Amino acid sequence: MGKNYYEILGVSKDASKDEIKRAYRKLAKKYHPDLNPENREEAEEKFKEISEAYEVLMDDKKREIYDKYGEEGLKGRVFGNEGFTWDDFSHVSDIWDMFGGGMGGFFRDFFGFSAPREERRGRDLAVRVNIELKDVINGVDKEIKVKTYDTCPVCHGTGAAPGSEVKTCPACGGTGKKRVVVQRGPFQFVSVTTCDVCHGTGKIIEKKCPECGGTGRVLREKNIVVHIPPGVENEDALRIRGKGEVPEHGGIPGDLYVYIYINMPEGYKRNGRDLMKTEKIPYPTAVLGGEVEVETLDGKEKIKISPGMESGSEVVIRGKGLPPFGGGKRGNLILRIEIDVPKKLSKRAKELVKELAKELGVDTKKSWFGR
Ligand SMILES: [Zn+2]
Ligand SMILES: [Zn+2]
Repeated sequence: MGKNYYEILGVSKDASKDEIKRAYRKLAKKYHPDLNPENREEAEEKFKEISEAYEVLMDDKKREIYDKYGEEGLKGRVFGNEGFTWDDFSHVSDIWDMFGGGMGGFFRDFFGFSAPREERRGRDLAVRVNIELKDVINGVDKEIKVKTYDTCPVCHGTGAAPGSEVKTCPACGGTGKKRVVVQRGPFQFVSVTTCDVCHGTGKIIEKKCPECGGTGRVLREKNIVVHIPPGVENEDALRIRGKGEVPEHGGIPGDLYVYIYINMPEGYKRNGRDLMKTEKIPYPTAVLGGEVEVETLDGKEKIKISPGMESGSEVVIRGKGLPPFGGGKRGNLILRIEIDVPKKLSKRAKELVKELAKELGVDTKKSWFGR
């Protein structure tokens, strides 16, 4: 089962979001690295653990996967592609909102320790990609166009004109960081912020690059090939690290989030690995039994119809459903049989049905198909 997120936060399995938020807040205050200078490492470890638990349990989708499959289930899944890392924490905007809203400026300053990295990182991008249902079987590579800030090809991100000099920033001595000590009640917080002279680059440019105006980046359209793994679900998102915006004055590019939308062919419904589809069979086949050819995601398939099959019966074709996320044993295709009652009949067909009705003792004057 892996880690028990409920135990980590000390909440019950059916805890509401409010309860989870409250529990997390309490623990975050207790274990925040800045409040535990004497055993910072240990606190950081614990802080990561509770943040991870919080991130999962506050997200309906992740919580559902976690409840079903445990920690392992999240590893193969969206946002958790590479598991949880310390960096991921900076994406949990919820935490910022939460502390920002509920605690005044207190916690915002509190998180100051990650500010330099935060500012040296480009923005994340999100794109939408449509794929076909059959692409879910084996996964698919999709080429997408993204308009984004990329490293300037002339100055290679330095922002300096070719041949001009780049000097070490005298304000920060090249570290790009500035330390600020803030007193909050009984606590003293050391917060590290970006040097405002060099924008955190640690360098001063003498002559700006004419291509990017000294920002080190240019807006351009990029083609990116996205590998979509098998078994994705509608509205799943994949994170591709480093394919977002390059920040001004150089730094770590943001991430690209690819939201996947699956085009469902008409008549299909999905339930995890299983597919459901309504299949119309001819009336005589339903009565006499026989064989019909049906369309599956893998092509045509013959199925047997037993004599007297009723509308609403189900025929299961094993292994013609979808694989789990990341690939594996495919689910089933479940056909819900509907009997195709002919709307237009030839004169002779009408005679024959009347004959049949008589044979079966049906009073056609009272029944709906005798007209
Ligand atoms: Zn440039
Ligand atoms: Zn500086």
